[in-house]
Amino acid sequence: MKRKKSVVALVVVLVVLLLAAISVLYDRLPVESNYVLDMRQVRELASAPQNTLPQSINSLLVAEGDFPSCLVIAGCASQSYPFQFRVFEIDYGNKTVIIDPVHDIDLHRENKPLTTEFYPQRYDQMQQAMKKASLIVLTHEHFDHIGGLVKSPYLAELLPKVRANKEQLTSAAAVLMDYPPVMQDISLLPDEPYSVLAPGIVVIRSPGHTPGSQMLFVKLRSGEEVLFVGDIVWDMDNILRQKSKPLLANWVANENGQQLADQIRALIGLYQSDDQVKLLVSHDKDQLRQYLREGLIKDGLAD
Ligand SMILES: [Zn+2]
Repeated sequence: MKRKKSVVALVVVLVVLLLAAISVLYDRLPVESNYVLDMRQVRELASAPQNTLPQSINSLLVAEGDFPSCLVIAGCASQSYPFQFRVFEIDYGNKTVIIDPVHDIDLHRENKPLTTEFYPQRYDQMQQAMKKASLIVLTHEHFDHIGGLVKSPYLAELLPKVRANKEQLTSAAAVLMDYPPVMQDISLLPDEPYSVLAPGIVVIRSPGHTPGSQMLFVKLRSGEEVLFVGDIVWDMDNILRQKSKPLLANWVANENGQQLADQIRALIGLYQSDDQVKLLVSHDKDQLRQYLREGLIKDGLAD
């Protein structure tokens, strides 16, 4: 009887170990993508008289974090992935558009140990930038991309500037416990695969990481093009090494892994075939530092 029990325990341990291994090692990246990313159409929508296009992409580092590699990339990696939580500002010279207002210190603390440093003065600076902005838009409805808005002391003043898709609102209501009901009154983006937000800015629907996920294509006056991919991947490594996110991440973040894998395959194709557009991964510290060095994005928000 005792022996039978120990055999059962051993089998249970082996099954758990097997499931754990599959959850971090299994790579579901397809050979062909089912996600259509029609860059010809996107560029057509982004085209506008040159003097109406944005002048620069500004960015402010509000918080930092560190993610275990087995949550970021199928098959894991030898190092963990440092995260940056940045707010972005599309600057037209005479108006600005804010992308992804970073979470406040309370949400930051709730998400430890994945989150590390938080910079309160910069958070306040971001709040002032939102007050000055013409529009506020989100790549998706997770706390680190919407938190600075829903927790804003200026929320009532900011709401008329917010443009979100329907899924971002319904999904965020489930994700953020203290989500203000008034958010349901904000202006909805068109329910289309591609839509123009402002001259040179095109919204590209990409549900998968969350139901309301979307990419943002930005064409600058200089002719440079940037594609904000949100959290389709958390690090450029997934594109460079051609790996999906692990199943574990799909489960933990409640992602649609198949939709994401198709989008990652499409982004790999774009990265390999299109020299003009630069992918911008929301949290990739190394990539963001490189873009700052190259001048593609500017450190700090407009005065
Ligand atoms: Zn994020």
